[in-house]
Amino acid sequence: MQKSELKTPFFMINEDKLIANLEKAKQLKELSGVKLVLALKCFSTWGVFDIIKPYLDGTTSSGPFEVKLGYETFGGETHAYSVGYSEDDVKEVADICDKMIFNSQSQLAAYRHLVEGKASLGLRLNPGVSYAGQDLANPARQFSRLGVQADHIDPALFDTLDGVMFHMNCENKDVDAFINLLNAISEQFGAYLDKLDWVSLGGGVFFTWPGYDIEKLAAALKAFSEKHGVQLYLEPGEAIITKTADLVVTVVDIVENGMKTAIVDSATEAHRLDTLIYNEPAAIAEASETGDHQYIIGSCSCLAGDQFCVTQFDAPLEIGQRLHILDSAGYTMVKLNWFNGLKMPSVYCERSNGEIQKLNEFGYDDFKRSLSRWSIA
Ligand SMILES: *Cc1c(COP(=O)(O)O)cnc(C)c1O
Repeated sequence: MQKSELKTPFFMINEDKLIANLEKAKQLKELSGVKLVLALKCFSTWGVFDIIKPYLDGTTSSGPFEVKLGYETFGGETHAYSVGYSEDDVKEVADICDKMIFNSQSQLAAYRHLVEGKASLGLRLNPGVSYAGQDLANPARQFSRLGVQADHIDPALFDTLDGVMFHMNCENKDVDAFINLLNAISEQFGAYLDKLDWVSLGGGVFFTWPGYDIEKLAAALKAFSEKHGVQLYLEPGEAIITKTADLVVTVVDIVENGMKTAIVDSATEAHRLDTLIYNEPAAIAEASETGDHQYIIGSCSCLAGDQFCVTQFDAPLEIGQRLHILDSAGYTMVKLNWFNGLKMPSVYCERSNGEIQKLNEFGYDDFKRSLSRWSIA
């Protein structure tokens, strides 16, 4: 398969770029003794898990189907977490997970009997401190429902628990800021942690960011795990998959209403939802900061404000031209939807040997079936 022959829109995951991130993960593990489980809610395109498996220890989940997917397609350790389990969920998940992490003391009390003897038992704590750019993604926001807060903890619980999970970072590129959070946790919860086998520090630690001081992070994690006598885990999502995939689109029209807009055969609301939710403009490979030709890169959905970005190019864009929307792996493919009946992007992997392999494609039948499988009689 030649890239130029593939029909847009499509995602192209690059194996070499993925391995570059995974090598950093490996370095972190070797230096610190931390175990790493992939957060499936960020990225769960299991067609490439064979590339990731040798580097990570397993998966973690935010819902029951992710547990099953991690168990079936990744293996290793399968952590099961959910903000709210039903009894059926717990029964389904308990047999296939290694660790069951409850979000509240009430869920723990209601369901622990279904887990004991089957999986290691954990509880999510909310440290009350965090690092997150936006309130929407801040686990320590006011009235947060994510984890048990310090002043609500029943200390007796720690004699019957195996571990705890904290998750309080979002794209934290600052190793010192992370270490401050680690110290705050050690100070506030240390006496509890001493009684446990394992502690997960969640995701959002951006150790694959260029220039990130992995050695400093590793030393802090190692010291923490030795101090409290626990096996540490991190649950990276974005850090593993960052900058490994492009969303490739075609310019289908150019309109001018005060500004030039290039309309492409994709939409943020359907195919790159975080652009819209977090109001974070996308970056285009072909753009040039010093270019004279400015365009809105507009989507082909009907939502008035649905655009990828405003950017410049050295030459005027032309209908039929392809654009590469950078860094489109994490929190994208897991959120694809059929809004407007737009064609969902296919998914390909560009292997290290140059070969292109197809992982997924979608058609009208997928769209139709996602809406109803049966009609009323
Ligand atoms: C979202 C989430 C992660 C992954 O976060 P990234 O920012 O993608 O690393 C890990 N653990 C929990 C509990 C999460 O909610």
